[in-house]
Amino acid sequence: MIMGIRARVLARCAFLAVVCVVRRGEAQQIRPYRPAFDVSNYDISIDIPDTGKVIRASVTIDVARTAKADSLVLDLLDLRVNRVAVDGRAVKFNQAPATVAIPLPARGNSFSVTVDYGGPVSDGLIARVDSAGRWTYFGDNWPNRARHWIPSIDHPSDKATVTWRVRAPSSKTVVANGKLVSTKPVRDASGQDRTETVWRESRRIPVYLMVIAAAPLERYDLGDTACGLADGQRCVPQYVYTAPEQRGMLPGPFARAGEIVRLFAGLVGPFPYEKLAHLQSSTRFGGMENASEIFYADGAFRRRTMNDGLIAHETAHQWFGDAVTERDWPHVWLSEGFATYFAALWTRAARGDSAFRAQMANIRRTVLADSNAVTRRPVIDTIETNLLSLLNRNSYEKGGFVLHMLKAQVGERAFFDALRAYYAKHKNATAVTDDLRAEMERESGQQLGWFFDQWLKRPGYPEVMAEWSYDSTAHEVVITAQQGSRFGAYQFPLTVAAVDSSGSQHRSTIMMTADGATPRPARIPLASPPAAVVLDPDVELLATLTTGKP
Ligand SMILES: [Zn+2]
Repeated sequence: MIMGIRARVLARCAFLAVVCVVRRGEAQQIRPYRPAFDVSNYDISIDIPDTGKVIRASVTIDVARTAKADSLVLDLLDLRVNRVAVDGRAVKFNQAPATVAIPLPARGNSFSVTVDYGGPVSDGLIARVDSAGRWTYFGDNWPNRARHWIPSIDHPSDKATVTWRVRAPSSKTVVANGKLVSTKPVRDASGQDRTETVWRESRRIPVYLMVIAAAPLERYDLGDTACGLADGQRCVPQYVYTAPEQRGMLPGPFARAGEIVRLFAGLVGPFPYEKLAHLQSSTRFGGMENASEIFYADGAFRRRTMNDGLIAHETAHQWFGDAVTERDWPHVWLSEGFATYFAALWTRAARGDSAFRAQMANIRRTVLADSNAVTRRPVIDTIETNLLSLLNRNSYEKGGFVLHMLKAQVGERAFFDALRAYYAKHKNATAVTDDLRAEMERESGQQLGWFFDQWLKRPGYPEVMAEWSYDSTAHEVVITAQQGSRFGAYQFPLTVAAVDSSGSQHRSTIMMTADGATPRPARIPLASPPAAVVLDPDVELLATLTTGKP
């Protein structure tokens, strides 16, 4: 029985503490990352200077040993470790260029490991002067750049809670993950007045989303939003933090931030975090979905190009990517494809069906125009080792369009029921694509292995060529269709429409099959020859579409 095999394989995976992908009853392993350890909490204490790049910091890590191992290996680049203690006792550690190895006692399986370290940061925490000459500090960790400033198990499979204690010049505003716990005046070693700000994220998040901002930011209060749709509290307080000179643009597109959270919470489940802040930052990306604090590129504020589509994309990540995190990088479409599609669902809610269809058509054009990842690699790409290269048309646009087709395949109701179940089951944890498939199959009652395989595990897309003629004896439009062979044959329903002289559509469906056989033509009754024949009128198929008369 499939369920039994699946359950047995999963049990073995859990026992060995490795990450497994189960496909058609056989185990296909993703190479585990630090398989013997699970971090549950990071307590990070950091001193931000007045100017320059030198930080001093200390992190205390609560870690469980889940398999035999005599030392804990943490990722750390660039910075120098001064001291390590395990359960309060100093230990001899071994710092290599990219790691710190810390010996653990033979007994016991949970440890509190403290690492004191510091030095000039070169990445991860971006220390730089802004356009007005002020020093700013913004974390920017994706995909594995946290290791430039946080000794950590720097991989999305290991999620943890985090407390930030940031001592910074009092002229800077400090924002971090989760809830603001306290701010208090402190004095540093040289007698300078500073402020210590403590933030606490009580939900497990991946290290790539653990960031702080320490910069001359002003806060704009968007108020309590999405009341009744927050997890563990009533409302979602939202804020925008900008440089003082950008304050005049607010709220601008952020006026709709509350509606966006309300829409997604209604579709998927309560908003997962304690607050949602939107920050003008120095991220290298257009926007970065750090848990409960989205960092946007500085330029979008200065050039006034910030828009609700970008806000919707990054906000959708709070559920997909942040709360439910891809367990390994080949499944990054579970983050980016979802954010892409949910931004389109925001368009549908905000601007209506035709704007939504136009956006899906645009996404499809982008996929079909791509001659790199899309034509060469599957969406679930287990070969690519350059993680930044995974930020491609497969992960975003093709992944987003696949969700759109999945919704058409199982129906809108089963689709969202399955998404809610998938979210509830994996929130504050991790998932792989098969976890999504399992929920879609359960809610729809359909076997969907063929769907996930053809759209996510093969490069390319179908190429549809259709021809039509008018049978003036039977008064029917006859439409035939076939597939090209460039990427092999796919299975899908092809909706075809004959448009009459008044502009009305008369529809039928041609069932295309994965064996590439020529399917039965569609015959659409029509009193006179059609004004036009349209393939896929609702923009629900990722394919090239050409029509002609024979
Ligand atoms: Zn994204």
